[in-house]
Amino acid sequence: MRSWSQALLCWYAAHRRDLPWRGHPDPYAVWVSEIMLQQTRVTAARPYFERFLRRFPTVDTLAAAPVADVLKHWEGLGYYSRARNLQTAAREIVARHSSRIPASAAALAQLPGIGPYTAAAIASICFHEPVPVVDGNVARVFSRYLGWTDDFRKLPARRKLAVWLQPHIMAVACPGDFNQAMMELGALACLPHTPLCDQCPLATACHAHCTGTQEKFPVRPAHKSVPTRHACAVVIRRRGRLLLVQRREQGLLGGFWELPGGETKRKPDARTAATAVKSQTGLIVSDLSANGMIEHVFSHFRLQLVLFAAGGSAGRLRANARARWVHAAALVHLLFSTAHRRALQLCIAATRKPRQ
Ligand code: SF4
Repeated sequence: MRSWSQALLCWYAAHRRDLPWRGHPDPYAVWVSEIMLQQTRVTAARPYFERFLRRFPTVDTLAAAPVADVLKHWEGLGYYSRARNLQTAAREIVARHSSRIPASAAALAQLPGIGPYTAAAIASICFHEPVPVVDGNVARVFSRYLGWTDDFRKLPARRKLAVWLQPHIMAVACPGDFNQAMMELGALACLPHTPLCDQCPLATACHAHCTGTQEKFPVRPAHKSVPTRHACAVVIRRRGRLLLVQRREQGLLGGFWELPGGETKRKPDARTAATAVKSQTGLIVSDLSANGMIEHVFSHFRLQLVLFAAGGSAGRLRANARARWVHAAALVHLLFSTAHRRALQLCIAATRKPRQ
């Protein structure tokens, strides 16, 4: 009788998706793809991956690039610390490993931004090291298959599953395919809602399928609610140019450009927004009108960004304000968070609306 891992590998050979990083001969490309896929879906990551590899085709080109250029090629993917860590790790690989990607999971895990999961994926796919990957997809498949009720968002549960998988990955000839097959099964068949058990190679021995309890796994302890933060953004124009401010290099979205305003204690009104602009830039803005709201979810909070358009502005920019008047044509060269890119699109669209 075939083992479950043989059945899984056969299923993978027949159903695997054709992805640009799959079968790529360069470990650097596999590494970039694994970092992009940490918090991003395959369909969203794919065009970014191709564009990133065209601009930074080797670890040396990535290490030598200006950080703003790297972030620009990451713009829209979110979780920008991934891009910063990727470049820091590239510089370390150039300096300490003669530009060669380390060939073991243990050495890979020493690099910034590479946790045990990513290290296992790269080492197994590129260097055939038999170390199991336990990501969200794999945890879902095996919590159902084994009927385990552990909280797989926690490290001990992931370690426990890795220990269980270890002899199975040791027994196959292609550890990289084994890991990719588990992840692919989670992505294509063992879906979070309504899993496609009739297409699954593990169905006959799957605890959740046999007991009709797929929806109960993986077990999720009650969700903590995500706090809401408020911010305002003000559109201020002078002589056909738009005022933008740059965030400090340190902290969330460091170095990114945005409309003036910033975080406020509660939902901002026009007066709060005018005060925020004055303290940030030194300008006195008047005739503020509400111009819509954008909501954006970060990993630990939800941001409500209220937009205003200023009818006028007086005074000069403070000397130490990180602010600049920018022509619309130059916006494409600057780095914006998704929320502020959407805010700009909204205000540009409002400007183009014909007057009633
Ligand atoms: S049989 Fe269904 S629940 Fe079990 S692993 Fe396969 S898809 Fe998931």
